[in-house]
Amino acid sequence: MLKVYFGNADPAFATFNEITPNLTKRLSYWKQFKLSKIGKARVVEIYLASKLIYAMKFYPMPANIQKNIQEELFKYINFPAKIPTVAQEEMWKTYSLGGLKLINIEVKSQTSKMKWLAEMATNNDLKLNLGIFARLLGTQRGGITGKDLIFLQKSYYRNQLKTECKFYKEALLSIAHLEINKGIQDIDAWDREHIFYNSLFLNHQGQTLNITKYCERNGIFTYNQLLQEKEKERKKEPYDKILINMLDKIKINTSIREEDIIQKENGEEIKLKLVTQKQLYEEIIFKIYYRDHHSQSKWVLKLDNPIIWEDVWKTVHNFLTNNCTKTTIWEQIHLNFYTQYNYNKWHRKLDICPLCNNTPESIFHIILNCAFTNKLWDEIEPFLKELHPGPVTEVEKAFGIVQKRENNGISLRNWITYLLRNCISKEERIAYHSAKMPNFENIKHKFNSIVHVEIKLKLLRYKNENNMPFFEKIITHGEILCKKRQDGHIEMRNIYN
Ligand SMILES: [Zn+2]
Repeated sequence: MLKVYFGNADPAFATFNEITPNLTKRLSYWKQFKLSKIGKARVVEIYLASKLIYAMKFYPMPANIQKNIQEELFKYINFPAKIPTVAQEEMWKTYSLGGLKLINIEVKSQTSKMKWLAEMATNNDLKLNLGIFARLLGTQRGGITGKDLIFLQKSYYRNQLKTECKFYKEALLSIAHLEINKGIQDIDAWDREHIFYNSLFLNHQGQTLNITKYCERNGIFTYNQLLQEKEKERKKEPYDKILINMLDKIKINTSIREEDIIQKENGEEIKLKLVTQKQLYEEIIFKIYYRDHHSQSKWVLKLDNPIIWEDVWKTVHNFLTNNCTKTTIWEQIHLNFYTQYNYNKWHRKLDICPLCNNTPESIFHIILNCAFTNKLWDEIEPFLKELHPGPVTEVEKAFGIVQKRENNGISLRNWITYLLRNCISKEERIAYHSAKMPNFENIKHKFNSIVHVEIKLKLLRYKNENNMPFFEKIITHGEILCKKRQDGHIEMRNIYN
């Protein structure tokens, strides 16, 4: 049963304190299953994080608990390996940016609260909640109150906002990660705007206006108050020169829409009232944690080619490829995985590659340079050309065939070559732990049966899903991998002779 504590001395602590041991127990339960990293990231999302996410809707998560849980999740992803290969920050990214969609607890917590603020600010059905929010926070420095409190800068929430309410403090600090342009519905709405810390009103350096002692003393907070002085000047009545001066220096942000808009990092816009938590989550992950991975520039230099990474990752997440194989390719592209070169690096040795008997010269060895690997590529090339024309290139050995529009032949060719790379990577580890040299013919044999098993699994799956036409269209495409006989039996071909 899901328990969320209310009303006792520290309900946030009580709630999370009960969830954490439970999560640890469930993590150890899942450790018995040998899953790939991608599979484990899904387990975390689907089975483990749901309670946390529910509790986070109500409470700020104590920082130490958050840190512990995040560490436990990362350890689980890497289990049973002791040395992690790819950094957690990289795993937090979405698939299309090269990540594993591993949940980031902190950002999840932040975005669930952001979503609540966004709803309160834009949904009329939540007027009552907005009223409670306004009363809880009162009028803050600069005469700012109610909904207006949602559109300020982080420095304001950090230094000026005074509240005992931890939940809303965290929520406001979170929403400040976004660039939100507050909408202005009509010309009269300008009059009601508060002038300080408001991105609608900027100084000549393009910054929001800080409150002055003079205005604070005299209760000058709105644009209308400045306009009134201007009006007095026009009518030749006594007026406040300081305020007119201020008004003259203000630059109004005129690129404003009627509705509140979130300006995404990539230039796109989303209406605040339509934004989903998923969009908020992905935007924050991108904004805070996106860095190019060190492998990216290494590949550009190695292949002497520009690389469109989004297309590469789309290719890796090929619909035919299983999670275990995807994980292998994903780690290889990140240039950090369990291989002889890395063992040598970690242990300061110069041991030979157990497949080809040469000392691996770089992390690229097993992917591009290993003689054993390359012989397997050479012998499979005629078969690959049947699936999709064109010779095997270094780019293919690195990423597969990357094309914006994949046809059946390319999908199948990538499916097969990824399987081959997964097989080579496993064989390298087997050879590393065994005294015997790997036998080339045996491995070709093994690979034939790996492909047959994969085809049988697909057959089973599409039969179960009542989607045999799909199987016949894709897998038996061109009758190259396998063909359907008259009696309905699927006849499979050997890839290596
Ligand atoms: Zn080798």
